[in-house]
Amino acid sequence: MDDCIFCKIVSGDIPASVVYENDQVLAFDDISPQAPVHTLVIPKAHHSDLGDGVDAETLAAVFSAVPEVARLKGIAESGYRVIVNNGRDANQLVAHLHVHVMGGKTMAHGMVTFADE
Ligand code: AMP
Ligand code: ZN
Repeated sequence: MDDCIFCKIVSGDIPASVVYENDQVLAFDDISPQAPVHTLVIPKAHHSDLGDGVDAETLAAVFSAVPEVARLKGIAESGYRVIVNNGRDANQLVAHLHVHVMGGKTMAHGMVTFADE
């Protein structure tokens, strides 16, 4: 899709630090990491979010890639958090479905902080 930064990474128009790739999926390190390991896994096909007609095969491909990405980044054994920010209230900034894989350090137990806290 024109104007989509992650589609431009898929097409090679914008560089990225690619971690893993197959026919359906691309994984690359987040440009502004919020954890020692912070890698994004995206479908190569453009879907703005989980509500944008994502077929089960694509979802399976994206989530199946997560443990492989964790292995390649060295956090498979130590553990990691998998996050999908979906839509406005979740602060989704890039409108191309993506899964954050984050780890490399022990996290606090709470998962969510609200804007008014
Ligand atoms: P989200 O809030 O879930 O939409 O997160 C979007 C993520 O994409 C943020 O963590 C950004 O740092 C990351 N990001 C934005 N542009 C790039 C880029 N060109 N390469 C890698 N990561 C990016
Ligand atoms: Zn896109």
